[in-house]
Amino acid sequence: MGGLKDIAEHNLQRRESSERMLAQYRAFNIDLVQVDVHSGPCPKCLRVQGKVFSISGNTPGFPLLTEDAIPPICAEGCRHVLLAAPLMFLEARGQAAYLRAFSCNDGLVVTDIYDYTDLRTGRSPGRGLAEGERIAEEYRASRQRRPRGAARR
Ligand SMILES: [Zn+2]
Repeated sequence: MGGLKDIAEHNLQRRESSERMLAQYRAFNIDLVQVDVHSGPCPKCLRVQGKVFSISGNTPGFPLLTEDAIPPICAEGCRHVLLAAPLMFLEARGQAAYLRAFSCNDGLVVTDIYDYTDLRTGRSPGRGLAEGERIAEEYRASRQRRPRGAARR
C-alpha cells in the first residue's frame, strides 16, 4: 500500500463498494452478510471477520450489522468485504447454529480460513480473543520479515 492519499482513495472505494453490495443484498432480500476471513488481520478486523450480521436486525439470533463491521473496517488498507450469507444456505450446510453462537460472542474470533473451517463445521467455537490477537500478530510479523517480492498478497 502506498502513501496516505492512496489509503484514503482505497478506503473511499471500499466504502462505495460496501454500499453497492448492501443495496444489492437488500434488493434480493438477503438479510444476512458475513465478513470474509483473511489470515492475520489487524485487531479491529479480527473482531468481526467470519461473523454473520443482519442488515435489518430482523433475523433472530444474529447481531445487527453496524458501522464497525462494514468495510473498510480498519483505516489501514482493509481488504475485507461483506459476503451474502442467506440463512437457508447456512441451515442447509448445517452451519447456522455454529455461526449464530460465534457471531453473538465478542470474545471469540477466527484468525484464518483454517480456524473458520473448524468453526463452521462445529469442531471449535472459535478462538479466545487474546489468543487470536497473538496468532494474528505473529502471522503479520512473519510476513513482514519476508524478503521483498517473495510473495505478494
Ligand atoms: Zn479488514
